[in-house]
This record gives sequence, C-alpha cells and structure tokens, in this order.
Amino acid sequence: MRCFFAGVVAVFLFAPAAAFAQASPATEPLKAGFAEADITPALVAKKPVYLAGYGMNRKAAGVHDPIMARCVVLEGGGEKIALACVDLIGLQYPQVKEIRAKLPEFRYVLVSSTHNHEGPDVIGIWGRGPFHRGVDEAYLSLVVERVVASIKEAAGKLTPVTAAFGTAEDESLVNDSRLPIVKDGVLRAVKLHHAGTATPAMLIVDWSSHPEALGRSNRQLTADFPHATVAALKKRYGCPVLYLSGAVGGLLAPPRGNVKDAAGNVLHEGDFEYARVYGDMVADLAAEAIDSAEPLALAPFVVSARPIAVPVENPLYRVARAFGVLNRPATVWTGDFQQFGDSMTLEKKSLPSAVESEVAYLRLGELHVACIPGEIYPELVYGKYQEPVEPAADFHDAPLEPSVASLMPGKNWMLIGLANDELGYIIPKRQWDKAAPFAYGKEAGQYGEINSCSPQAAPIVMEALKRRVEEAGK
Ligand SMILES: [Zn+2]
Repeated sequence: MRCFFAGVVAVFLFAPAAAFAQASPATEPLKAGFAEADITPALVAKKPVYLAGYGMNRKAAGVHDPIMARCVVLEGGGEKIALACVDLIGLQYPQVKEIRAKLPEFRYVLVSSTHNHEGPDVIGIWGRGPFHRGVDEAYLSLVVERVVASIKEAAGKLTPVTAAFGTAEDESLVNDSRLPIVKDGVLRAVKLHHAGTATPAMLIVDWSSHPEALGRSNRQLTADFPHATVAALKKRYGCPVLYLSGAVGGLLAPPRGNVKDAAGNVLHEGDFEYARVYGDMVADLAAEAIDSAEPLALAPFVVSARPIAVPVENPLYRVARAFGVLNRPATVWTGDFQQFGDSMTLEKKSLPSAVESEVAYLRLGELHVACIPGEIYPELVYGKYQEPVEPAADFHDAPLEPSVASLMPGKNWMLIGLANDELGYIIPKRQWDKAAPFAYGKEAGQYGEINSCSPQAAPIVMEALKRRVEEAGK
C-alpha cells in the first residue's frame, strides 16, 4: 500500500470517561439491526475530490460504485453497541468522538474504516501538493452526520436474532510485500439469524487485505474489492453485510497472479474486473466461514476502552502538521501513554508531541473483539516475529510485544483494524528499520516506517490491549 504517509494524529482534550468494564445483564434476548448510508462525495466543478492513498493530487473523475457507511447495532441486556465501518482510507479519532457525542444512549460506538484507497481524502495528505490539505471539511461533517443517522436507523430496526461465528482460511488470497512474510489469511464471520429461524438477518465479515485492487492510476470513486464482496454475499444470503478490515499492516494486499477471468487470463491491479473477481473470491471464502459457523452467545457485553497517547516522531507528520495539512490536535508527549500532556502550542513545538487515540477490547458474549486504531502487522497478531533477529534492524533487541492471539481469552475472536482511528502502520519494534545499515541486506530502509507514527506505536498499542483485556476480566 502506498499510502504515502497514512495518517496521524492527535487529539482531543477528552475526559478519559470511556473507561468502563462491567458486564451487562443478559436478561433480554439478543437483538440486532442494520443500516447503511451512501457517503459518496458530490463531484462538482471547481471543487476537486482528492482520492486518498498513493500519491497527491489524484482527482476523482467519476463514480464507479458508491462509498458507503454500514452499521450493525446489537442490543443485549437493555444496552446497545454499534459497530460501523466506512469505505474510507481511515476516519480519525476526532471525527469518531464527534459521532459518539451524538449517540449518548449507546454503551459503545465503534467506527472503523476499510482503508479504501479509492475514496476521498479524510486525513489531509493527498491534496494538490505537499502543503495543501486534501480534505473537504464539509464532507467530513457529512460523514459524521450520516454515520450517526445510520446508527440511529439501525437502532430503530432491532429484531430478535441468534448468532453464529465461523472462520475460513486461505493465505493465497493475500500478498505480503514486506519481510518477514507473515499473513493473516483467516476470514472471520458472524452470522445473525432471525431468532427461531434459519433465515439470515445480517452478516459481519472481517478480512485482512488493503482495498487497493484499483491501484494508483484509477480516478473513479469506488469502494474497491469490498464492494464486490458485499454485493456477492448480499445476493447469496439475501441479507445485508457489514464488511470490516482486520490486520492489513505489513502490506497485506490483493494477490498477484492468481486472480483470473472466466477465460483463465490473469487480471491485474487497476482493472475493475480484477477488483470484482477478487471481491468474489473473498466472498467465497466468507461463505465457507458462514456456512460452517457454530452458534455462540453475543451477549452480555463487556467493554473496556480507554484513550491512549501515541508519540508522533515521524518527521513528515510533524512537517505536515506545521503546515496545517494534518490538523488533529496534539499534546506534549509525557513518556507515558496513559498520561496526557498539555496541548501543543507554537512555543512548545520543539517538544516531543503525541496524539490521542484509543484501544478497546469488547467481550460480546463468547466473542472476543480487539479494536486496534491503525494498520497492525500480522506479526503482532500471531506473535510470528522476525526469526532469527535481523541485527541491522534499529531495535533488534527490543522486547517482543504480546500478540493479539495470546491476549484474547478465548478461541473465538476478531480483530477490527483502523478501529476508531488511523494511526498508520503498527510495526513490531524489533522489526523497525529506518536507519542504516538496513535489514535483509537492503540498500534502503523498509517501506512502512514512513507511514507510522513511531517505533513506540506497537509496544504502546499491545500493552494497552493487554490492560484492556485484564480490566475486562475483573
Ligand atoms: Zn495502508
């Protein structure tokens, strides 16, 4: 993925009130509702829509398929949780907090992004040049408004359901472009039936691959391959589908060479047929997971979510912030991810800065959900770190972070990436490689660090997840 620098940061002076970890009583049957909203930006003369991902100044020339926001609302024990996802490069924490502020009746609201590389810039770094912010602020407000409206609409359509969870695996459906090769080829799916029937009411599908089948030359607004995945599953099961992105870091992306048309010709990046066929292949894998899903309880809900401070050491992000290309508020980095410093001001600009984000752990009945605010490397999901250690890596003796799989308290779990934020890549510290000499005998550093806040991001996010799971267990 070539999301030039993907994202970043910063914060909000927000009271750490999002910390809570109590179980809700499961006295009522589980209910669920689905809604979706079209968030395709209007294309009007003299007001370009800059496409996010890849290089700058890529202006949308048309609409191939709509950019959507979709959400599932779950109700159990009288409490409601919303899981929403937008077909965007990465909606950031300040907008998620705006959305939450309008939904006080919810126990928890998660808003994630598919990390679509063919939708409008909502971060800022893909404008007409390095000093131009590519975001239309009115569009950001529209996204906030429509996500709120769709969550309310879903909450108004709650219907009794029973749940099942299944997985299916095919590593050949993702490419990993950075050593070591570690993929997450597991597709995870939740199937919700109308209670007492075998009729599907809605599906939640979680897959780890960059939506970038269309590539850098495309100028049409599109949701990329998830559009095809959702359409295929909707047709097959006759119900709506919430598509989520999981661990897309390390550069998990659509594969090369094994996506073919009906005549057996290999399809390539940039072709809408490639996006469609790949999207169908992901839908077929999802169908395997859905058809083998086993019943599980999705209530009661336990939520543990807290803000974290993440230092921003990336010099490109700092420059972009100085020029207003990135405009998230920042605080002075205190050295402790749970302590927020003073707001960043001009006089303090030489001090290390941090942005506010959030890590959450949800226990939905028997399903464990890790909510990770960026593009986590699959190494951190499975604990499959570079082995043997690359001595040329910058922090080759850094402690290994605890993996997501080892932290999840049960076998049924999902990881939602770009959850409530896009911090860019979350790279195992031991594999961070920005200074010469470079790992693997390369003549230049690895791709990834340019789109990451800091080598501290992974240790902070994983420690935060560990604490959230521990808090929920109390
Ligand atoms: Zn990316």
